[in-house]
Amino acid sequence: MNDTDSNKAPKKGHAIALFSGGLDSALAILMMLRQNIEVTALTFMTHFGCDLGDRSSCGSNPYPAAEKFGFNVKLMHLGQKFVDIVKNPRFGHGKNMNPCTDCRILMLNEAKEFMEMSGADFIITGEVMGQRPMSQVKDKLNLVVKQTGLKGKLLRPLSAQLLPPTEPELSGMVDRDKLEGISGRGRKRQMELAAEYGLEDYPSPASGCLLTDAGYSLRLRDLLAHTDIITFDDLNLLRAGRHFRLDANTKLVVGRDEADNNAILACKKPHHHHLEALGVGSPVTLLVGDASHTNLTLAARITARYSSGKKNPVVEVTIVNGDSNQALTVTPMTDTDLECFRLK
Ligand code: SF4
Repeated sequence: MNDTDSNKAPKKGHAIALFSGGLDSALAILMMLRQNIEVTALTFMTHFGCDLGDRSSCGSNPYPAAEKFGFNVKLMHLGQKFVDIVKNPRFGHGKNMNPCTDCRILMLNEAKEFMEMSGADFIITGEVMGQRPMSQVKDKLNLVVKQTGLKGKLLRPLSAQLLPPTEPELSGMVDRDKLEGISGRGRKRQMELAAEYGLEDYPSPASGCLLTDAGYSLRLRDLLAHTDIITFDDLNLLRAGRHFRLDANTKLVVGRDEADNNAILACKKPHHHHLEALGVGSPVTLLVGDASHTNLTLAARITARYSSGKKNPVVEVTIVNGDSNQALTVTPMTDTDLECFRLK
């Protein structure tokens, strides 16, 4: 049977896929389509980089493959549920602030709910045994099945032959012999399958979401340590610039380049103070928190330090907050003093 015939034939079942847009999850879906299983792919987004504009392994655009191969995609934002597991993951963080095991459990629970709601038969993922240190070793795969109550309903087509048969395999809905037994970090077999299925333009493997980044995690830890109620604006501001903590209630974000400056301005809220050096090339700086005279002076000195007037004896810095506008003339901060405030 060719692909066109299999598209016309009645579907043997319906799978819900976790789909990042990456190679492995795309292959898992194609393996199901080849077996005449209907697939609805869920692409999850979070405030930590798994969105379509990001480069992470969790953040590729799912639509080109969906259009090319004929499956549905649903975008789902995990919002506050995901923030809660980042703050307090039951199974701990990885090397940085990435709660990969809890993340998989959350995504699978959402997929399970969707499967039950839509009357689908089972769930598939592109997980490969032993591919990632935290979320994909065999114990972790079993733990996730246990925690989600998905025993028998969670099929990992790429490693299926190394795992116990699932319900769709036992019932004959899915032919186990046509599934794979891939393990480890190599991607040779996946590349062969991609060529066989005509899957092109898949992203190269990336390290994961922003939570796997040491610098981002440091800024996030600082935010969690100093803020009781975290807003999505707070989280968005962590993505750009150099970050400085002036006191327990106050931090400063200083743009490194034009893209940073624009990103910081996009996060600006009425309660933020916006600083820029006058008459010289200047970063955009936002002060978030207590705008005391001491903090505004520190903020102005740090802004001056990152301006092109950093070697000048003094630099004038404007500070705008809503309708109020003031200027301070300050000495640029020395690198030694800067180290007391820099998040590192
Ligand atoms: S890197 Fe880990 S925490 Fe981040 S989205 Fe992927 S699985 Fe989830």
